[in-house]
Formats: sequence, C-alpha cells, structure tokens
Amino acid sequence: MTQPPEILRAAQIERWNDEADVIVVGMGIAGACAALEAQRAGADVLVIERASAGGGASALSSGIFYLGGGTAVQQAAGYEDTPQAMYDFLMANGVSPDAEIIRAFCDGCVEHFDWLEAEGVPFERSYFPGKAVFLTTTTCLMSTGNEKVWPYREIAKPAPRGHKVAREGENAGSLAMEALLARCAEAKLRTHFDSQVTALVIDDDGRVVGVRYRKTGEDRFARAARGVILSTGGYNMNKELLAAHMPHMLGNSEPLGVPYNDGAGILLGQSAGAATQSMSGVIATASFYPPSQLIKGILVNTRGERFVAEDSYHGRTAAFITEQPGRKAYLILDSEIFAYPELTDFSHHTLVDGWETIEEMEAGLALPPGSLQRTLGDYNRHAENGEDPLLHKHPEWIKPLTAAPYAAFDVSFNKSVYLFITLGGLKTNARTEVVGVDGAVVPGLYAAGACASSVSRDGKDYASGLSLGPGSFFGRVAGRLAASAG
Ligand SMILES: Cc1cc2nc3c(=O)[nH]c(=O)nc-3n(C[C@H](O)[C@H](O)[C@H](O)COP(=O)(O)OP(=O)(O)OC[C@H]3O[C@@H](n4cnc5c(N)ncnc54)[C@H](O)[C@@H]3O)c2cc1C
Repeated sequence: MTQPPEILRAAQIERWNDEADVIVVGMGIAGACAALEAQRAGADVLVIERASAGGGASALSSGIFYLGGGTAVQQAAGYEDTPQAMYDFLMANGVSPDAEIIRAFCDGCVEHFDWLEAEGVPFERSYFPGKAVFLTTTTCLMSTGNEKVWPYREIAKPAPRGHKVAREGENAGSLAMEALLARCAEAKLRTHFDSQVTALVIDDDGRVVGVRYRKTGEDRFARAARGVILSTGGYNMNKELLAAHMPHMLGNSEPLGVPYNDGAGILLGQSAGAATQSMSGVIATASFYPPSQLIKGILVNTRGERFVAEDSYHGRTAAFITEQPGRKAYLILDSEIFAYPELTDFSHHTLVDGWETIEEMEAGLALPPGSLQRTLGDYNRHAENGEDPLLHKHPEWIKPLTAAPYAAFDVSFNKSVYLFITLGGLKTNARTEVVGVDGAVVPGLYAAGACASSVSRDGKDYASGLSLGPGSFFGRVAGRLAASAG
C-alpha cells in the first residue's frame, strides 16, 4: 500500500454514525496526549483505534523521553540545562531541522515533563553517568544522543536529556502508556476500538470534517466539527513504502513497532493534499557498545579509512556505516580493550579474526595495502597526546591501539541486525497543522507522533527519546489547537 486512499466529500455521506468536536485517529502516546488535552480544553472527543486497546508502539518502547531545558530530574542530578542550550544542540545536530518546531519543543519541555509526571508517568531522581544504549534499571537520566560529540559539544553545553520511565526492564514505555490510558479512562474519553480509519472526509472548501472507519466488517462515518488529529505511528511495517523510500531496510533489519504502524496516517493525510517530508529518514541501530571500552577502538571502511567519531550515538554511527562503500565497516581493537559486544538483539557480532600485526590484519581484511597501517599510525601518534584531530573523538575514549594481538569485528550492514523506526511523515508546522503540497495548511487536519516528520528526521540526528518526547509534546499541542478550532 503506497497510494493514498480515496478522499470522500461530506455531501456524499448519507448518514453519519457518530460525531464529535475532535476525532483522534490512533491511541499511542501522541493520540492519548492529544485526546486528553482536547477534552480538557472543552472539546467532545472521539478516539478511533484500529487495535483492541490503546498503546501502539509506545507501549512496547523502552520508555526513554528526550526532554530538557532544566527538568526536575536534570536539576536533581546537578545539570544546568536551558531551553536555549537544548535548541542550539538540536539545531546544530539536525540534518534538516525546523527551527520553529525545535523552538516550540525546547521552550515547552520543562512544563511538559511536569505534565507527564502529574499524569502519573513516574521518573526517578537518578542519573546514569556511563554510555549505554538503554537501561534495564529504574534509573532515569542518561545521555542518549550526540551532545558530547564534536562539534556539538563546542556549540552547546552538553546535558543528559534521556529520561527513562521508572520501570525495570526493556519495556518501560508500557508504564507510561498504562498511566496515560488510565487517565483517558478516568476522563471517560469516548473510544472506538477495533476500528480502522480508511478515509478522510472533506467539505466543499477542502476542510477535513470527518473520517470513514471500518468496524466489524462495516463502513461507518464520524463527523468532526473542529478537527481530525492523525496519530497512527510510523510506517516501518509497510513493505511497499519501505521499498519506495529505504529499500536497504528490507533485508536483515527488524522494524520496531506494532503491525498497524503501516503508514496509514501518512497516506490519509496525502489524500487530503498533505505534503510529506524526510521519508527516507530512519533510525536504524546495531550498537557495537556496550561494553563502552569498545568505543576506544576505531571504525574503518573498506578503504581502511575512519569515517565517524566512534563515540557518536549508535544511530549516528549506523547512519554513517550505511553510507560507506558496500555499506561495509570494521571495528578495530587491540588486546587491551578487546571484548565481545554485549547486545544480542541488535548486534554486530561477527568476529573476523585476530592478528599479531597491523599488516597482517590489513591483509586479512582485504584492505588496500598500507591503508590501515597509515590510518592506525596517524591515530596512534595523536592518541599518545589524547587527541584525535581527524574526527575529534572525546579524549575520554582515546588510547593508542598498540597492544598486539589485534582483532576486528565485521560491523557491515549485512553482518548486523538493525532495528529501525521511520522518521519521515506528514509535513506539519510547529502548531501541528498539516501542511499541503501547495504550502498552505490543510484546514481541519493535525498530525503528531511518528506519522509526522518532527524534531528528528535522520539517523544522524536521532537521540533515544526523540520519538516519545516530541510525540507526547506535539500530541498535546494538536489536542489543544484542534479543540479551539472552528
Ligand atoms: C521496542 C521499542 C523500543 C522503543 N524505545 C523508544 C524509546 O525508548 N524512546 C523513544 O522515544 N522511542 C522509542 N521507540 C519508538 C517509539 O515507541 C515510537 O516511535 C512512538 O511510540 C510512536 O508513537 P505514536 O503515538 O506516534 O504511534 P504508536 O504508539 O504506534 O500509536 C499509533 C496507534 O495508531 C493505531 N492505528 C494505526 N493505523 C490506524 C488506523 N488506520 N485507524 C485507527 N488506528 C490506527 C495503531 O494501532 C496504534 O495504536 C521504541 C519503539 C519500540 C517498538
């Protein structure tokens, strides 16, 4: 499914089965936040969800929210973050950043953190100082992006901004969704479950005024007096859309999400004239750390050259690996730091071999003669002084690689299991209004969460938490705005 569904005209609808001020399509984190805020702003809200309950990918997630600007957890951990520092970082690190979207998110983050806590999403006042991909403890705060990576660490004062919900295990997002869905139940939000939205309805002026949904084998129609909010998640379960926008992800990669993350919201929006953006944006990760000592190794491509600072966020490293010739790369280690990568779910586990000399390793990896010897020679010469003038890896992760024997892991794209989520989607402005291909707002239509292209649009600028953080934040924005429309 790559083509937008038909668009329906209000005049064609003979009978509306239901009506509300605001209709929210999809009840993951963006939809739940949108619905709560719209109802509190005085709107009569109807949520239409394809599954038998709310939750979506959000309920499967690790529960890391990227938030900053001076949250209570950051303050408790002794970090002085500001909205401006967060903005400067996200703008500098962004591949195609939208200044207004990022400004709105950064300025609203502290209030949003307080709101999440007030809704019953618990965050411990605790901090993990190390470098990890995710935590299985209840520890909250961790650096989850490229804040300490050059040049960003010189542009904006680094601060940890990954806030993990206080539940043990890999699935802390379930606790966030339990809390938000409990609030939705308390608020007696009207919901239709097992109901798939299959088309939007517009009036003669092109304003979105309702939806068609399929429930128990029957087509039904619901009218929206003020607006429709799309919050159906990403599109990584739609093989045809993947083939069109990121065909390389169809091989050995694993999409992260629920089966209904099939891009429906994106296609529904397009049927009403919406533009899409960053559709090839993907966060695909196969982390070679932990253990963090592996960051002291170097990554080289088939030319024997380094291409990314090894202390980058794993998603940024993965994005650079996929750009190398043949999508191939090796992690080079000496015996002082050798260890097997620990993560088994998304991993680079192919140990190529061990060698007594760099020359033998170069031949064993079939790298151009002299290339690895030159690369390591340069690296080691500067590493003696704790420096990396080529890629500016942080001194914390620099040591000369001189302790034979040497080893290499094959971290090539086809030798790793990449878990991924899509980052592209409907073009929206900072108010979550959907923007049309003609540049004008599509009246009556809003989008939030992974069906919209939002703060992060590329693996190089992703940080863990940049889905749940902006998804929940802009879900609320959409709910308030739609409630006030009309
Ligand atoms: C294992 C895992 C770990 C992750 N960890 C993190 C993390 O720690 N931090 C982070 O920021 N991100 C994380 N992510 C990504 C993040 O969970 C998602 O990007 C985010 O939850 C998307 O939220 P959403 O509300 O946009 O979509 P979802 O939560 O997927 O909700 C969309 C809802 O829309 C419904 N729907 C779809 N189509 C229709 C239709 N046509 N009609 C009606 N309903 C429809 C779906 O059934 C679903 O319930 C993780 C993802 C996974 C799977």
